[in-house]
Amino acid sequence: MEFIDLKSQQKKIRKKIEIRIKNVLDHGQYIMGPEVFELEEKLAEYCDVKHAITCSSGTDALLLGLMAKNVGPGDVIFIPSFTFVATAEVVSLVGATPIFVDVLDDTFNINPQNLLEAITKVRQDGLNPRGIIPVDLFGLPSDYDALNLIACQHDLFILSDSAQGFGSIYKGKKSGKNGLMTATSFFPAKPLGCYGDGGAIFTDDDDLAEIIKSLRFHGKGTHKYDNVRIGLNARLDTIQAAILLEKLKVFDTELAHKELVASKYTEALKNFCITPHIPNGLKSSWAQYTIKITETDRDSVKNYLKECGVPSNVYYPLPLHLQSGYKKTTLPTSLCKSEFLASCVLSLPINGYINENDCQLVIESLRNCLTQSYHKDAV
Ligand SMILES: *Cc1c(COP(=O)(O)O)cnc(C)c1O
Repeated sequence: MEFIDLKSQQKKIRKKIEIRIKNVLDHGQYIMGPEVFELEEKLAEYCDVKHAITCSSGTDALLLGLMAKNVGPGDVIFIPSFTFVATAEVVSLVGATPIFVDVLDDTFNINPQNLLEAITKVRQDGLNPRGIIPVDLFGLPSDYDALNLIACQHDLFILSDSAQGFGSIYKGKKSGKNGLMTATSFFPAKPLGCYGDGGAIFTDDDDLAEIIKSLRFHGKGTHKYDNVRIGLNARLDTIQAAILLEKLKVFDTELAHKELVASKYTEALKNFCITPHIPNGLKSSWAQYTIKITETDRDSVKNYLKECGVPSNVYYPLPLHLQSGYKKTTLPTSLCKSEFLASCVLSLPINGYINENDCQLVIESLRNCLTQSYHKDAV
C-alpha cells in the first residue's frame, strides 16, 4: 500500500500528460509558455479568485507574498508553531521576526485567542506586527472569520499558507479566497501536485497581483531590461503547468474519493483514537488524515501498522519553536498544544485512489493494536 499513491493517478492520465508534454517540446516555450497562462486562468476559475499567479514552489509563493507587502527588518509576522518549516523560514529570509503562536488541538490550526495574546505582548515589547500566516494544516481551513476580524482590528494582513489546503472550503469559500493572499504548493505529494516543484499565489487585489507578477520575474517593469524592484527568479516551468492542467481535471474526483475514505476511517476509528474534527461549514482537502494517539505509545502503533503493511507518518515530530534553527526566537505565549500534538499525531494513508481492501486493512490493523488500551473505555 502506498502512503501517497502517485502511480495510480499517473496510470489513469499518463497518455494525456504525455500529449501535453509533447506539445511543450514542440512549441519550445519552456519559460512562461502558453500553458502557464492557461493554468493560471483555470486555477483562478477553480478558486473563484481574480488572480492566480503561478510560481516555482509553495515556499516561494509565501516569500513573494511577504515581499509584495514590503515585510522586512523590525516587522513581526505571526505563525503557528505546529507546521512545516517553510512557513517560518520565509519570514526570517525577508529579515522579519516570526512569532510562534499555539494551535487548537482539535483542528491543528492557529488559535485566534492565543494570537490576540501574542499581538498584545509583541506591541508591549515595541515591535511592529504586520501580518499573520495561518496554515491550513493537513488540508483543513483555519478559523478565517475570527482571524479576519483580528486582522482588521489590529491592521494586519493575512497571507494564508494553504500549501496543503488547495481544494478545501471555508464556509462556501474555496482556498484562495480566505485572506488578502493565499499561497499554495504543487509539490508532488500535495493535494494538487506536479512532477517537480511548483506553487501559486491567489489574490483578489489587482495591485498586489501586478507586484507579485513582477517579483517572480526579477522585478521586471514594462520594459524587459528596466527592472523596477528587487525580485526573484520564481516562475513555474511550462512543462509543470502542462502537467498540472491534466491533473486539475481529475482533482475533484480525487477529492470526493478522499472525502469518502475519511468518513469511513472516522466512523470505524472514532472509538479507538481521536479522529479529525471538521467544524461545521468546512471541507478539508485531506492532504493528510491525522489521528491522535494518547493512550498507547505512538511509535509502537506505527511499528505495528508497518508489520501489517500499512504505512503511516508523523507530521510533525517537533514544533518549530523546538527546532535547532528556531530556538532563539522569542516566545511570548505558551505553545503547549503544539508540543502535545507533536507527541501524539499519526497520519494514515489517504489518497484519491486507495481501494476498499487497503482501507479495511488500515482500519483493522489500527483497531487490533489500539483495542487493548482503548476499547475498554470506549465501548
Ligand atoms: C509543503 C509546504 C510548504 C512549502 O511548499 P513547497 O512547494 O515544498 O515549497 C509550505 N507550507 C506548508 C504548510 C507545507 O506543507
